[in-house]
Formats: sequence, structure tokens, C-alpha cells
Amino acid sequence: MLEVRGLEVHYGGICAVRGVDLDVAAGEKVALIGANGAGKTSTLKAIARMLPARGSVKLEGEAIEHAPPHTLVRKGFALVPEGRGVFARLSVLENLEMGAYVRDDKAAIEADIERVFGLLPRLKERAGQTAGTLSGGEQQMVAIGRALMSRPRLLLLDEPSMGLSPIMVDTVFDVIRQVVQDGVTLLLVEQNARLALSLCDRGCVMDGGEITLTAPATELLDNPAVRAAYLGE
Ligand code: ATP
Repeated sequence: MLEVRGLEVHYGGICAVRGVDLDVAAGEKVALIGANGAGKTSTLKAIARMLPARGSVKLEGEAIEHAPPHTLVRKGFALVPEGRGVFARLSVLENLEMGAYVRDDKAAIEADIERVFGLLPRLKERAGQTAGTLSGGEQQMVAIGRALMSRPRLLLLDEPSMGLSPIMVDTVFDVIRQVVQDGVTLLLVEQNARLALSLCDRGCVMDGGEITLTAPATELLDNPAVRAAYLGE
């Protein structure tokens, strides 16, 4: 579904992503883990065309590295950015409606809003509340719910656990688990490597702007070097 070759991101003189190759098959769930500053967020943003980058990115065989970023949503691509990026002054419901802006099938949009509310009942209770006044975890749910409103086939999630209490992290990851059970392909960037690997099929370890190790998630969870470096053992 996603094929990345030779991805490079430079910030001035700094090379943050150094020739990353990455494949994600349809329906697969892949975690990108690594230390702070390893280049995970830059990789995700470059794939989503939110950063200038070198290299090739193909979505279902179609080159997208020159596609205007807003056209990616129509191609089934949704990114939930680090920091969530909800529309703080809009209500929860309006945020969800914004997620469907590329669609004009009103009845189906209504049905999808109900589906998101079913997955995220907290949002239904707060449908009329301004998103900026929600807790961090609730805002993360809005960001995920908004992404689902475009009916993505490929979901890119950047650090969904960031800044959340342990209970909220569990809630948010339960939601992500349910979403991917429906067959959505996932590329997840996450500081909490144990959580990410417990959810995903495969993990890629990033270090110094490169992917240094790719393996099934269960293997990485058992790998002594990974355990020592990323799983706090
Ligand atoms: P974290 O887990 O801390 O978010 P990360 O693995 O996602 O880290 P990136 O945010 O991609 O890493 O950053 C990779 C490198 O690029 C870091 O050294 C960072 O300082 C640098 N960097 C990121 N954004 C910028 C920017 N806008 N300008 C300059 N350097 C940047």
C-alpha cells in the first residue's frame, strides 16, 4: 500500500532523515520507534508531504511525492499529527464534519459521525463543546475521529500517547486497536515502544535518521538490544 524509497529530510545543514526505505502492506500495522530526535516525526511528515523531502513515496503504486498535500486525503491517506491540531474554536461535531470536507455524501457522513461517536462515546457527550476546552486525551480522540471521517485506508499517527495520563493512553490505544481491526492500514510513530509494538504487526527502529532494524513486533519485544534501548530494561 505504501512504498517509500530513499527518503531524505534536511533542516538547513542538518540531515534528519537519511535515505529511509519503508514498505507497509495493505492492512498491515507498522510501528516506527526510536529515541527522541531519531527522525520519526520527520519521516511521517515527509511521507504525508508536510515537509520538503527527497526520495520517492508511492501509495498503491502511484507516486505521490509531487501530489499537492490536500489531494492525499482523496487518495485514502490521513495523518493525525503530533500535538493533534484540532480546530480549537470549533465544536467537537464541527471538527468531525471538517474531517469529511472532501466528501459530499451527506447521509453517509451522518452515518460516519454516528460510527465515530459509537467508537468514542466521550465525544458524543461533548459534541457541542469547543474542542480547545477538551482535555488532552479528548482532543486526541477528536483528532483520530476527524481523521476517520475521511474514511482513510492508510492512517498515519504521530505520538498518540504524548502528554496523556496512563489511563487515557489505554483508552486512546483501545480506540486505535478497534479502528485497525476494521482493516485500516496503520503507520504509527510512538515514543512508548512497548505499547506500539503490542499493537502492531511489525516494528522499525529508527536511529540517527536511519531505519536500523525491521522485524515482526513480537521479535522486537524479545530482542535484548531493543529491550535495553527502547523498552526500559
Ligand atoms: P521525538 O520523538 O523527540 O519527537 P523524532 O524521532 O520524531 O523525535 P524528529 O522530530 O523527526 O525526531 O527530529 C529529527 C531531528 O531533526 C532532530 O535532531 C530535530 O532537532 C531536527 N528537527 C526537527 N524539526 C526541525 C526543524 N523544524 N528545524 C530544524 N531541525 C529540526
